Amino acid sequence: MTPADIAFDREHIWHPYTSMTEPLPCYPVVAARGTDLQLEDGRTLVDGMSSWWAAIHGYNHPRLNQAMQAQIEQMSHVMFGGITHPPAVALCRKLVAMTPAPLECVFLADSGSVAVEVAMKMALQYWQARGAKRQRFLTLRRGYHGDTFAAMSVCDPHNSMHSLYQGYLPSHLFAAAPTCGFEETWREEDIASFSTLIAQHADSLAAVILEPIVQGAGGMRFYHPEYLKCVKALCDRHGILLIADEIATGFGRTGKLFACEHAAISPDIMCVGKALTGGTMTLSATLTTRDVADTISQGSARCFMHGPTFMGNPLACAVANESLALLQENQWPQQVAAIERQLRAALLPLREHPRVADARVLGAIGVVECRQAVNMAAIQQFFVSQGVWIRPFGKLIYLMPPYIIDTTALARLTRAIAEALVRPDLFLEN
Ligand SMILES: *Cc1c(COP(=O)(O)O)cnc(C)c1O
Repeated sequence: MTPADIAFDREHIWHPYTSMTEPLPCYPVVAARGTDLQLEDGRTLVDGMSSWWAAIHGYNHPRLNQAMQAQIEQMSHVMFGGITHPPAVALCRKLVAMTPAPLECVFLADSGSVAVEVAMKMALQYWQARGAKRQRFLTLRRGYHGDTFAAMSVCDPHNSMHSLYQGYLPSHLFAAAPTCGFEETWREEDIASFSTLIAQHADSLAAVILEPIVQGAGGMRFYHPEYLKCVKALCDRHGILLIADEIATGFGRTGKLFACEHAAISPDIMCVGKALTGGTMTLSATLTTRDVADTISQGSARCFMHGPTFMGNPLACAVANESLALLQENQWPQQVAAIERQLRAALLPLREHPRVADARVLGAIGVVECRQAVNMAAIQQFFVSQGVWIRPFGKLIYLMPPYIIDTTALARLTRAIAEALVRPDLFLEN
């Protein structure tokens, strides 16, 4: 890219959550292979982010490329209204087979946020069809469900954009965030806030929506499986739908194929996205039970009212299908377990460091929570100089590498974090 290209980018192109007047620098990447991102100047960086949970098999995977190339020869896209096609059917068949048993009806959407919108609309239409006025959602503080309006309305109210859109967003109910960690001894009082809210508002609640076990972008927190079991039992007792947002956790990242499996529960509605296409194309899915689907279909609208232009995009379905086939060959349990062991050995000792508030690992996710926020521009530059791609936010430096990463590359990532901690210039004053 020429200096003019970089200047054009700065002047005209928005990047995620950035300012148009004072953007942070962006690094030009021209190719990606395996676990390496190749910068334009020829340097390669070990990728610690899987492009936000997505590229689980690494970049430029020959089988994913082959699946896309073969599908392009047939058709890249065709509308889904009144038409069906082999890649969509093959993909949905796999999704129904691999998700918890009662989930058997699939809605294909274009991104994670849209899958969440679809899930919330399903819950609303379900109660409308049953003639009940239930329009509120109960969720957890510190959650993250996406950036579109309904999704935003159930994100953590402090940590997100609620104040920015105050008066415009519907107001939902927020239980205290779980405090009992994944590996701690379960404390019954952790569920008290949730339990009280669901009992008080049972008659007006359409659904509970949460991220199972791992609260991702809202703080990278791992909570106790018993919490999720209690949530499921309380939803059942009060007859309220449970929506599990597995967009970040799905497809093996936490050490189980879906994080719900840690608590042996199944939701009424489940959202998947991010890793669905192995990080190649945007695609998501919302799955639900026969009961929810049938009830919606008997409502006054007689159908579910959503249908994006690129619904069921054949190219995305074909590559998702191949990504799931790679998962079904079952290398991931060993790969994720090996990453977990190495992350534990390298990151947990950092708890002793004065700058570190906590370090935690679950599956192929490693988190170092610092006492100070990072200086983004400085730490980004530091990590690039160390040959790694790690993108912290706030006080959190975290890794979720592709499952195919080898021990040398993973060691490079964890070493870079340890080295960043001894550099005061990379952190902001509290
Ligand atoms: C990323 C994410 C979303 C939003 O997905 P997009 O594809 O970015 O719209 C929703 N829920 C969770 C848990 C996520 O991690």
